[in-house]
Amino acid sequence: MTTPTRRDGRCLWLRQAIQPGEVDAPVLAGNLTADICIVGGGLAGLWTALDLKERDPSCDVAIVEADICGGGASGRNSGMVLSQWAKFAALRAFCGEAGAIALGHAFAASAGNIERFCKAHGIDAEFRPDGWIWGATCEKHVGSWNGILQNLEAIGLHPFKRVTGPEISALCGTDRFLAGIHDPTAATLHPGKLVRGLRRVALAKGVRIFENSRMLKLERQNPAIVRTAKGTMRSPVCILTLNAWSTSVPELRPSILVIASDDSVTEPVPELLEKMGYLRRPLMGDSQTFVTGFRTTADHRFQPGITGGIIGFGGLGTNRFEGRSIREADIRSCVSRGFPAFADLPFADSWCGPIDRTRSGLPLFGPLPGSPNIFYGFGFSGNGVATTPVTARILASLALDKKDEWSSCGLVRPPERWLPPEPIRYIGAHMLRHAIRRKDRLEQENRVPGPLVRALAAMAPGGITTSTIISPRR
Ligand SMILES: Cc1cc2nc3c(=O)[nH]c(=O)nc-3n(C[C@H](O)[C@H](O)[C@H](O)COP(=O)(O)OP(=O)(O)OC[C@H]3O[C@@H](n4cnc5c(N)ncnc54)[C@H](O)[C@@H]3O)c2cc1C
Repeated sequence: MTTPTRRDGRCLWLRQAIQPGEVDAPVLAGNLTADICIVGGGLAGLWTALDLKERDPSCDVAIVEADICGGGASGRNSGMVLSQWAKFAALRAFCGEAGAIALGHAFAASAGNIERFCKAHGIDAEFRPDGWIWGATCEKHVGSWNGILQNLEAIGLHPFKRVTGPEISALCGTDRFLAGIHDPTAATLHPGKLVRGLRRVALAKGVRIFENSRMLKLERQNPAIVRTAKGTMRSPVCILTLNAWSTSVPELRPSILVIASDDSVTEPVPELLEKMGYLRRPLMGDSQTFVTGFRTTADHRFQPGITGGIIGFGGLGTNRFEGRSIREADIRSCVSRGFPAFADLPFADSWCGPIDRTRSGLPLFGPLPGSPNIFYGFGFSGNGVATTPVTARILASLALDKKDEWSSCGLVRPPERWLPPEPIRYIGAHMLRHAIRRKDRLEQENRVPGPLVRALAAMAPGGITTSTIISPRR
């Protein structure tokens, strides 16, 4: 029996990407086997499946997905394809200087590689190489990027160009950004069309996909057994690409704080965007700890997004991450600050999704403790669009037992144990969020937060730009 793929209740990206007449992949039923079973069919799982197929077309790869491929964060993100140079210090802490430079270049090249992949496979993901401005909307934030630039310049790397307020205004039509830096390698794309396109290519290459098939139990043995309501998948190698849902795996839970990001879109407003001079110009981000991002879409919508939303108890727990965003008022006040000309536009849609924030802002890869045939890849911390095609190589090398620069890279490391168990974790995360929101608000008013707020906010896990530099533990 075929189930028509549900569009109702999904965000605009997925409603646009799911074609009428499309049907879900079959449910996993009965006792099946595969060479490699990937649990989680988002960008991380799909790129890994494609990498495995590219290396060995005969490898029998199966994806087991609880919802539909792209139904998680991958189909509802802001579609910002960002290099990871802003996290260079954290990359260097884990990978050493040479490793960090190599990975930094690989992440920066990702946008171009995604564009080429999409062209080669007929995916119209509305890729637009528009660049990224990381800017400041208040005096306190001007120069937030200086430390990062100095680190990079000291080793001869110049991925960003400084831009003045008037230059930003000429590019985006808002005078609210006082200064910033510009990364020309960044891009925007349509997340729904990308992830659904990857699904189509994976199926064409022989990846077996099972949707509406939630893993209820993982038997840590060889072969590993993934149990769902109606069946089992046995495989000598299993890869978990579960994003925020990694909290359902006890070994991984202490590594990530699950916190929502919220996005919205207006109706198409081409005349207004043209009048503003923001029809097709850089995506924008501010320098708050809970970053606000702005971009436009190929169908001329304005799309603002904010971070630092709902916190999950013990991970996700409930369905609070589904449906329309409960933070539309917060998004609107961020729009008033960054792009006041759009402040009164109604939102055609809004949504939220869970982010798997690690302490450093960098993802983790490796075998589950005590299970050398079961690998994890998670913790993209809100930066999975550009990173997952690269980190797919790490997961594929681990799964195929290749001893190469990918399997030995510094991002391969044991789960971090930086978060306490519930309910301390939930309470602590709310205190942290409160402090960060307060710090962001005071700084916007050019006021200095008190020492307690500053100390708490300094414990924020890594996001799009900032990261806590921690020593690698091996
Ligand atoms: C609102 C929002 C905006 C964002 N904006 C950006 C952006 O502009 N740029 C950027 O780079 N990143 C952004 N991100 C982050 C980005 O979307 C993620 O980093 C990326 O999608 C991670 O891919 P993934 O495959 O790890 O996760 P997901 O796409 O979430 O995939 C995990 C999958 O696992 C499935 N799953 C969970 N539990 C089970 C189970 N038990 N059994 C089987 N399957 C299971 C889920 O259904 C899901 O499909 C944003 C995220 C959100 C929510």
